[in-house]
Amino acid sequence: MTGTLTLDTLKAAAAAGEIDTVLVCQVDMQGRLMGKRFHVQNFLDTGHEETHSCNYLLATDLPMETVQGYKSTSWESGYGDYVMKPDLSTLRRLPWLDGTAMVLCDMLDHHSHQPVPHSPRQMLKRQIARLADMGMKPMMATELEFYLFRESFEQLFDNGYRDMTPLSMFNQDYAIHLTTREDAVMRDIRNGLFGAGIPVENSKGEAYAGQEEINIRYAAALDTADFHTIVKTACKDIAWQHGRAVTFMAKYDTEVAGSSSHVHQSLWSDDGRTPLFHDPDGRFGMSKLMEHYVAGLLKHAAANTWFLAPYANSYKRFTTGLFAPTKAIWSNDNRTAGFRLCGENSKAIRIECRIGGADLNPYLALATQLAAGIDGIEQELALEEPHSGDAYEARDVREIPGTLRDATVALDRSDMLRAAFGDDVIDHYVHAARWEQAETDRTVTDWDRLRGFDRG
Ligand code: ADP
Repeated sequence: MTGTLTLDTLKAAAAAGEIDTVLVCQVDMQGRLMGKRFHVQNFLDTGHEETHSCNYLLATDLPMETVQGYKSTSWESGYGDYVMKPDLSTLRRLPWLDGTAMVLCDMLDHHSHQPVPHSPRQMLKRQIARLADMGMKPMMATELEFYLFRESFEQLFDNGYRDMTPLSMFNQDYAIHLTTREDAVMRDIRNGLFGAGIPVENSKGEAYAGQEEINIRYAAALDTADFHTIVKTACKDIAWQHGRAVTFMAKYDTEVAGSSSHVHQSLWSDDGRTPLFHDPDGRFGMSKLMEHYVAGLLKHAAANTWFLAPYANSYKRFTTGLFAPTKAIWSNDNRTAGFRLCGENSKAIRIECRIGGADLNPYLALATQLAAGIDGIEQELALEEPHSGDAYEARDVREIPGTLRDATVALDRSDMLRAAFGDDVIDHYVHAARWEQAETDRTVTDWDRLRGFDRG
């Protein structure tokens, strides 16, 4: 695809005066891009080898608090550095920012130069490597929903994020005439991403006023997570350039549907040619391998939920009747179940996890889905019968944890996750989850005042 760069083509673009800035980025626990804006010359001279960032960047919460209690870093240990090692295969133009390119970095220990085990990109790479050892390659896609507003980010901030107006007036699910009115922003997003070498499939209106979905073609798992992170940044940047705001909160308003990020998953032979999930003689065209993989996803759905729903707000999306699943069951092409079989009896057969919100960190979500699927394969777990009918009404079936607190307990107790990532890594994220809970528990909200101030 066009848009991607090598060091040589970057050099040429810099000499031609086309590129003067390189964003050197890493991904934090929240799935955000963090980094520095390099002058292209400095990047070409030294920055492409490595640079550094403060190691508190994998120990902060959404508002960037220096949260204490992590083993990996603290005031006591002096908040040292990580090495940011550019992965030059991710070097690309960002056409929506004048004269700008970007590169994603892996995070390495400052002294040993070993990968930082709890860095999200490393966690995903570790699971991809396990599959590579088994002769398999995961192909994945993350659909991404968000809301687009008439106001700018600055206006909404000044207003305490109250009284925002969705850019469209009503339900715009698939509605072309409504998405025409938003296409100044959405077209720039599609074209900007395409120009950055990201294989955009389409965007569409979603079921509530102002709600959008953007789809990127499925790709190798690491590329998918990289794309997802860049897509979120592009949406924010381009909305801002148009004087509009977007949000990827799982649930920005009580009265409207939440925003999701469904994760499509399939395994292929390591040369990428043979779809290992497909067997024309299997039920719905599923191979035995796929049955084991899906059984693993189901078995570990509770343990994995925190990585699909990391904040207290995330759990407000799990509402009956709004297409967000509440049950860890599978079904064939049924959108009410947590896991939906798509592409039955075809080479495109895949499993879609519908639990995740638009607020998930794609590296963590993909890594933990793969770890659960690998466990299903290794244990040769049997796949139960599919669910049919309205899953919201299903009784006596595996529930997805309904609160951050329950999801944190399931995460902490998961032997599968501890074996796949190591105790230190899982303890790191349990600490992040507990911090989030503690912050939620102590905070007085608008809702508390509205309910209690004069009525109690
Ligand atoms: P939906 O019915 O969920 O809208 P789509 O046809 O739009 O389904 O596909 C959703 C996503 O699934 C797309 O991003 C597509 O690239 C991805 N996808 C298609 N085939 C595969 C596959 N074999 N493995 C993983 N993802 C796939």
